[in-house]
Amino acid sequence: MIIMKFGGTSVEDAKAIRNITEIVQREIPRHPLVVVSACAGVTNQLLQTAALASQGKKDDALQLVASIEGRHKKIVKELFDADTTKFLHKHIAVFAEQLAGLVNGVSVLGELTPRSLDAFASYGERMSSFIVHHYFESRKLRSFLVDARSFMITDEQFTKAAPMFDVVDQKLREIVQPKIDNNYVVITQGFIGSTQKGITTTIGRGGSDYSAAIIGALLGADDIQIWTDVDGILTSDPSVVSDAKKIKIMSFNEAAELAYFGARVLHPETILPAVKKNIPVHILNSRRPESRGTLIIAKPKVDKKCVVKSIAYKEGVTVISIVSTRMFLAHGFLENVFDVFHKYKTVVHTVATSEVSISVTIDNVANLGHILRELKEFATVSVSDKKAIVCVVGEHLKNSPGVAAKILNAITDINVNMISQGASEINISFVIDEENVEEVVRRLHKEFFSDVSHLKEIFE
Ligand code: ADP
Ligand code: ASP
Ligand code: MG
Repeated sequence: MIIMKFGGTSVEDAKAIRNITEIVQREIPRHPLVVVSACAGVTNQLLQTAALASQGKKDDALQLVASIEGRHKKIVKELFDADTTKFLHKHIAVFAEQLAGLVNGVSVLGELTPRSLDAFASYGERMSSFIVHHYFESRKLRSFLVDARSFMITDEQFTKAAPMFDVVDQKLREIVQPKIDNNYVVITQGFIGSTQKGITTTIGRGGSDYSAAIIGALLGADDIQIWTDVDGILTSDPSVVSDAKKIKIMSFNEAAELAYFGARVLHPETILPAVKKNIPVHILNSRRPESRGTLIIAKPKVDKKCVVKSIAYKEGVTVISIVSTRMFLAHGFLENVFDVFHKYKTVVHTVATSEVSISVTIDNVANLGHILRELKEFATVSVSDKKAIVCVVGEHLKNSPGVAAKILNAITDINVNMISQGASEINISFVIDEENVEEVVRRLHKEFFSDVSHLKEIFE
């Protein structure tokens, strides 16, 4: 069996849904399980609805609910005959009523908990999957809609809940596998799950990719297909670099590094379950299914001359520089520093050290005040925000001298705050002012990709 995950733009309107139905139909012999996201933009609107409700702007919130309802009803009307439309509109209206109920509850309380946010956010995937399932049926696909909350059991960290793999595995075997064995096209929602007590959770923004990978890994899929709105993983973010090239094949490590450093095309955690089971991941364009996309596998046999594969960047980064107040590098200094970040559950992205100092970058500043207070007990600390990390990724960086020099030469007029080469030796990342990020990415792209015509098996 294979997993086919369709992102927001791939289910954004009637045309997109017709289109993916054809794509799924072609894969029937391979027993597809379909994972869908919310229609593009709907998750943001749902979170905005929740925010408005909590600010006491109940009418505005209800108006937004009406517009979400209207959008889904319009899709239904364009896809189905009059009778089916009438029937499905009733169901969409029920979703909208439930959302209005949430708006009322939150506006009375005047407070918005992560748990309520997840309740709101879940409606996007629930509505899109409902429509897609019925459309599949109308096109004579044997479709079976499974609510992801019945198997994607998570912990209780609302808005970024962690799936409990053992439980999910068992539930998939009980609930989903028999339907696949019976030749159904199972369709389910990405992004959403449920606690063991049955309370709705979500697994983090962009999490549908992760849902797809978890299901694929646990069910032993032959292929995980991530269908989106670009031809695959590109040499850089196409919204910054207009002539970015498609990467035909890359390693799990390279893809993980790119995702982690901000390439939105793939959720960072997606790769891990696939790596563990060695399942290939394809990134494909649902608007151009004939394009073969990007294939991500453990060890591609590709040209060693290809040193740099892609350039990613992450904005909204804060740099913390920590200098030990003791004369000598006190025993346990680094340990003490990392203990503080660990205590406040703050992920450190990049690290650079010297004998008595360490600089780190973070993007979650929710606990910055506490972190600084504790660090100042044993170190002098300075903070600068509005920074960006730029990350150059390639499996062969480790055997290729001179890449760092090439990078720095291209940006001699730009102030670089911090440089670090990952332990995996497949990325070189550096920190700059946020305002320079697009310029830097474009210059580096030109430096490394302006002539890759001799690497036809890798770039297109
Ligand atoms: P989906 O809704 O299908 O999950 P996303 O918006 O999450 O789609 O991801 C696809 C988008 O990622 C692309 O439209 C593109 O703008 C952006 N992107 C950023 N970096 C890259 C990259 N290196 N390669 C391809 N796309 C990228
Ligand atoms: N709909 C969710 C989001 O917008 C999950 C996803 O699309 O992957 O974050
Ligand atoms: Mg996405």
